Amino acid sequence: MAVLARFGVGEDALVDFAERASRNEEIFRDVNEKIDEGAERHGVASAVPYHCECGSATCFETVELRPSEYERVASERYRFVIHPGHENDQIEQVVERHERYLVVEKVGEAREQIDRDHPQ
Ligand SMILES: [Zn+2]
Repeated sequence: MAVLARFGVGEDALVDFAERASRNEEIFRDVNEKIDEGAERHGVASAVPYHCECGSATCFETVELRPSEYERVASERYRFVIHPGHENDQIEQVVERHERYLVVEKVGEAREQIDRDHPQ
């Protein structure tokens, strides 16, 4: 939480996120992009805590990775970073396993939802 405040993400925004839990991953992606921008602005190259982007509305875990690693994952629209063990094989498949985080790729319905929300 301290990290979020440091990067200019308010607490009230987090309450709003909980209410919009059905879009959990996307919301945390937005938070993470703000964290990422903050890290970049402050010239942080070491690992930074990002929000777990898993599908659980009640998950407030963080995953630590370098901004450059996060940007690589976030540049692929179906890929998300999650805490190890938070993967849900009904909506995603693990494409990378790292010591502190996993990279998952959305499959099936979850993937179609992203396409509907973000038509290209
Ligand atoms: Zn999670």
